[in-house]
Amino acid sequence: MTAPTPAPTPAPTPAQLAAIPAERIPALLQAMPKAELHLHIEGSLEPERIFALAQRNGVSLPYPSVEALRAACAFTDLQSFLDIYYAGASVLLTEQDFHDMAWDYLIKAQADHVVHVEVFFDPQTHTARGVPFEVVIRGLKSACDRAERELGVSAALIMCFLRHLSGDDASRTLDEALPFREMFIGVGLDSSERGHPPEKFARVFARCRELGLHLVAHAGEEGPPAYIESALDVLRVERIDHGVRCLEDPALVARLARDGVPLTVCPLSNVKLCVFPDLAHHNLKALLAAGLKVTLNSDDPAYFGGYINQNYLDTFAALKLDVVAAYTLARNSLEASFVSEARKAAWVDDLNRVFRAFAQASAN
Ligand SMILES: [Zn+2]
Repeated sequence: MTAPTPAPTPAPTPAQLAAIPAERIPALLQAMPKAELHLHIEGSLEPERIFALAQRNGVSLPYPSVEALRAACAFTDLQSFLDIYYAGASVLLTEQDFHDMAWDYLIKAQADHVVHVEVFFDPQTHTARGVPFEVVIRGLKSACDRAERELGVSAALIMCFLRHLSGDDASRTLDEALPFREMFIGVGLDSSERGHPPEKFARVFARCRELGLHLVAHAGEEGPPAYIESALDVLRVERIDHGVRCLEDPALVARLARDGVPLTVCPLSNVKLCVFPDLAHHNLKALLAAGLKVTLNSDDPAYFGGYINQNYLDTFAALKLDVVAAYTLARNSLEASFVSEARKAAWVDDLNRVFRAFAQASAN
């Protein structure tokens, strides 16, 4: 005899959502289960950890102190950030270093009620310094497995190719990764966008598709909407990372909405890298109003001023977003993840329970 499956919790009704007062939104944003789908693990390296690893490994840094490194994080654009980002990553040498970096992040993710994360990593940043691919992926994977066991956080890895390097370099990286195929679920494309269109990586993405890997790519952050289109048509990605510049092309917006293509939007990152002057001018509300499948994420939280819940809290405050937006964003994040439908349904069930509990408490 099998135990009866409990009936799923229905989605909160519009009346229930309306019953939750605006002052409860910050607590709701913290408590709701969510997935993080756009997080570069090297971008979660806090200055304190960078200095501790530099000491452990005898690496000298171009910054005299933690404070000096923090002060250098006043970026003018994507490239000024990447220069510091690569300096920070230079302290990572051993499997333990990669494990420790990922573990620091995963503990914070659990505190933010992240139930699932798809972690980006940049192997070329490390293999170019002589760190073997195997060291990188084994360190990260052991932290992901430990998170599932000890924190109840599900974590998977997505390997990103650096787009300022060549398509051939990306192909060689894929060759190096193949013996570890079972340790990652997909590939992405990141680093400097301008001047590096998706077409450069058509061949390597075609190989990845044949291998059954999930495909994502950064597009339409600093680059034009045409890069979003070619990421979809040439690379055939399933999600667009950032994608905020899609609004410049109404036909593209209609297509993204019709096909339900998820966008992994990162508001604090966009402000820090001057894509928008401040959060009040961010186009998240317009993206939601256009019916796009938007998710909220932290990108490189150690450098951009906050982890995922900080992104939610600051964005909701600046744009005066409501309870419906909170539910939509959290639900989108769970549905846009690369896990089984059964797993998604279980998390959506938890999400529905949290919102119904807030509505119930507000009614009392
Ligand atoms: Zn990113």
